[in-house]
Amino acid sequence: MENNGSLGRVTVQRNIKILMKKTILHVDINSYFATILQQENPHLRNKPIGVIKDGGRTCLIAVSKEAKKFGIETGSRKREALILCPELICVPAAFDRYLDTTKRLQKVFATISPSVHIYSLDEAFIDVSDCRKNLYPNIKDLGNCIHDLIKKELGEWVTCNIGIAENRLLAKMASEVAPKGTTLEITDENKDALLASTPFKDVCGIGYALSKKLKLFNITVPYQIRFMSEEELNIIFGPFWSKELMKIAYGEETHLLSQLDKKIKHMKSVGRSITGYHLYENDIEIGNVLKNLCIEIISKVRVMNLAGRQVQLGLYGQEKGWSTHVTLRTSINHLNDLIDWVSKLYLQWHDKFPVIKFAVRLSLLKEQDQEELLPEWQKQEAVQRAFDSINNKYGIFTLHPAAIPPRNELIFPEVTGFLGDKLYQLREK
Ligand SMILES: [Mg+2]
Repeated sequence: MENNGSLGRVTVQRNIKILMKKTILHVDINSYFATILQQENPHLRNKPIGVIKDGGRTCLIAVSKEAKKFGIETGSRKREALILCPELICVPAAFDRYLDTTKRLQKVFATISPSVHIYSLDEAFIDVSDCRKNLYPNIKDLGNCIHDLIKKELGEWVTCNIGIAENRLLAKMASEVAPKGTTLEITDENKDALLASTPFKDVCGIGYALSKKLKLFNITVPYQIRFMSEEELNIIFGPFWSKELMKIAYGEETHLLSQLDKKIKHMKSVGRSITGYHLYENDIEIGNVLKNLCIEIISKVRVMNLAGRQVQLGLYGQEKGWSTHVTLRTSINHLNDLIDWVSKLYLQWHDKFPVIKFAVRLSLLKEQDQEELLPEWQKQEAVQRAFDSINNKYGIFTLHPAAIPPRNELIFPEVTGFLGDKLYQLREK
């Protein structure tokens, strides 16, 4: 009798586990930046394309699948890429249209499940756990349906990879290793094979430094980690990564990916960095670039009705870098305040070097729920509101402080592939 009881409990527990097993899809558009340009311009199709930020740039921020066949990778220099493939066509990116396309994708995904997480500009996790049984009894059919829906919405040239698994880690790994334009489902049968064959570079969250360290110890695939002791892992990778690596070894979701369940009310910081067109040595020129970045940050922060009290500044040369920050007592969201604080931080930079990359960030953001009573603040707010209303209507740099970079060197807002500011870009208006 007792045995039956405990067996019954085990069966019930197992059933609950089976019932609770999730179904997550990871959809990843193939060579997004290049594919969208090829969709818009049929003469670019079937040709090796390198996408550059704009006319004066030399770094390829994306490459088409045809260019990848020549060994050209994202991040390659144009000059080196042309040696590998002299027919390479370099095309400027179309950031506004990429974002528009992502919003269209978001609408497509919303028709599949109410639980969608846009992970980057061209990637999304779709959780169909709750609706699988009734709506998608054959999950492979759903995969095919998504391929068709994307082609219908974005065009015939646009293909994607789809990974299906019980969690986000495995779903993303599956879409990473699936042949281009296909769906791969990970089940209990093929899970270990995936973990034993996927290189760490294709595992979400493993950065450059960590993958280098893993390589140093001849650890190339997640499955190998299973044969290491906790103590050994701890010594080499530290307490956080030893746990995370063990999770990855067994195909469990990592901390980074499980954080996606957390509802984030608003952005914690808004920053902007840019690699300049040339090396900057002149204080006035550098100041103008920094003002340019401040304008973008304040416009985003104000649109979201936020204010921040930590200002960070980073300046980077070809070999050197310098950064600092200040934490303020009260939050700011007026342009002149941010410019003032960035200027004060700039004055702390003594060991000067020619600058190629600039970074400004306003952090510790909170909702700006009440106005300050100080007359000076009220005056600034009135000026800032007038500034906002003109720039919101006629474009971001219509009204600007006296000195910013010349028009042809102005840095306009743009989206990044990883869509770090998605709460701003995909906000409901
Ligand atoms: Mg992609």
